[in-house]
Amino acid sequence: MNYAAVFLDRDGTLIEDMHYPKDSNQVILIPNAIEGMKLMGEKGYLLFIISNQSGVGRGIIQDSEFKSVHEKFCELLKQAQIKIDGFAYCFHHPDDNCRCRKPHTDLIPKVFNQKPISFKESFTVGDKLSDLELADNLGAKGCLVLSGKGEATQVELNNANRQFQYAIFPDLLSMAKSLPCIIS
Ligand SMILES: [Mg+2]
Ligand SMILES: [Zn+2]
Repeated sequence: MNYAAVFLDRDGTLIEDMHYPKDSNQVILIPNAIEGMKLMGEKGYLLFIISNQSGVGRGIIQDSEFKSVHEKFCELLKQAQIKIDGFAYCFHHPDDNCRCRKPHTDLIPKVFNQKPISFKESFTVGDKLSDLELADNLGAKGCLVLSGKGEATQVELNNANRQFQYAIFPDLLSMAKSLPCIIS
């Protein structure tokens, strides 16, 4: 059996974009994010969080600060009874030219533990162009949410006249509602 997954961005998609968050007090869930993840799980999708955290590589966020933000985020997910199947972060500076910073795909195999994933039936969701390009690179479907930098990204996309396919949703819950149910 193949699994389908949603690869979720963190900042600007699940929690408010605080521009290099350093403190657990800056971890604020975006409205409808929890409800969206819950519905995705009920529909049968694995949930993975894939996030670029270049603030660490830039020296803006210390390891301990990153950890306190991550732990607070996990605590909020746990309180809401959301099960995340895997987390993966890229800490590199963009100039490092690593292969794990989105839209590159090297973080993806790290999270799913050899489970067979059908990318064709999987989705990425985020507020930036790199989240949509990730979908393109994986052969998945890209979804833009208008939280975080989503509206600016929408303008960027209109001006850039991108060729790839993506869908736009006001928030994560409306995206989740649009997903086909894969549990029979
Ligand atoms: Mg984001
Ligand atoms: Zn990286």
